[in-house]
Amino acid sequence: MKKPVFVYSDDLLRYKFNEGHPFNQLRVKLTYDLLRMSDALNESQIVQPRMATDEELALIHDTAYIEAVKKAGDGTLKGAAAENYGLGTEDTPIFSGMHEASAWIVGATLTAAEMVMEGKATYGFNASGGLHHGFRGKASGFCVYNDSAVAIAYLKKKYGARVLYIDTDAHHGDGVQWSFYEDPDVCTLSIHETGRYLFPGTGNVTEKGQSDGYGYSFNLPVDAFTEDESWLELYETAVHEVASFFKPDVILSQNGADAHYYDPLTHLSVTMKSYHAIPRIAKEAADRFCGGKWIATGGGGYDIWRVVPRAWSEIWLAMNDMDLEGSLPMEWIEKWQKAAPVTLPLTWEDPPGLYKPIPRKPEIMEKNSLTLSKALHHIRDSRKKT
Ligand SMILES: [Zn+2]
Repeated sequence: MKKPVFVYSDDLLRYKFNEGHPFNQLRVKLTYDLLRMSDALNESQIVQPRMATDEELALIHDTAYIEAVKKAGDGTLKGAAAENYGLGTEDTPIFSGMHEASAWIVGATLTAAEMVMEGKATYGFNASGGLHHGFRGKASGFCVYNDSAVAIAYLKKKYGARVLYIDTDAHHGDGVQWSFYEDPDVCTLSIHETGRYLFPGTGNVTEKGQSDGYGYSFNLPVDAFTEDESWLELYETAVHEVASFFKPDVILSQNGADAHYYDPLTHLSVTMKSYHAIPRIAKEAADRFCGGKWIATGGGGYDIWRVVPRAWSEIWLAMNDMDLEGSLPMEWIEKWQKAAPVTLPLTWEDPPGLYKPIPRKPEIMEKNSLTLSKALHHIRDSRKKT
């Protein structure tokens, strides 16, 4: 019997830099509410997270960095001393209790991982996670601790698992990639807007891992204004080819929803069509290649009203083999429209004609297809030999 779990408590909303910051965990609450009001999430499916311990954080992060985050959150580390650790910058400002808030998010991803690996759940979802820019000794790009990287290290250490990490955030999943760049037991696959003009600038197709890890890092940088058709072609082909090549024990997917046309921080033209398909393709790969072991996190997503709640609900719906279409629950719209600065969507799907077609579409598609074949080149090469 398939039993997915939704890891949630209000502790996960403590991760809050300041009022004007684009990273806003209210989106997790909006997602939770949307699912509850759609009768797609019941009490028995919700699991309380725990806080990650210092020892668990140290699977990835330097002890000195963990201490720095604690001090910053207590108000005793400021200025240049904090900035050495990427703390107190414009992207990642210091806030009170930032160590605990961040450790809750890591603990939630670990909870999902444990439930899945111990057979207590088929799939596990932590919408608050996916902080993929966190580095070993430095905060970066709104991310303090890298929950996904810690969870992958934990899956390796505790369960001896080989992990496939799939990242569909519009930004390159750099923190996770660099954590396992030399590790042949962790395969990373990231599809993102090209780093030519977008943070963090990495994620080139030529980044393929190094030493023993060479050939286990896959990057698909796509052009600005990429639309659903091309995005999904690359993602679906790559997931299939990489999963059948790597044969993972478990898949961990990061589901940033910032590739959407409405997202204010990026320049892609992905719509709800992709956010419906992405988790279903990940689930299919998990079912086919690793006995249904799939852990999913959230990630970026800065249109918290019109995009993220629907996109992340789709992950949970996919885990439950549910499809919802047409109107969103009126109860959700009525509850949140007052607080929203934009008009909330009325349906699960985006309306047709969301954006004006651009003449460069065929050129972009062709360029992206070429990137795909470059990224998968060595898999195809090794297949030819056998
Ligand atoms: Zn992002």
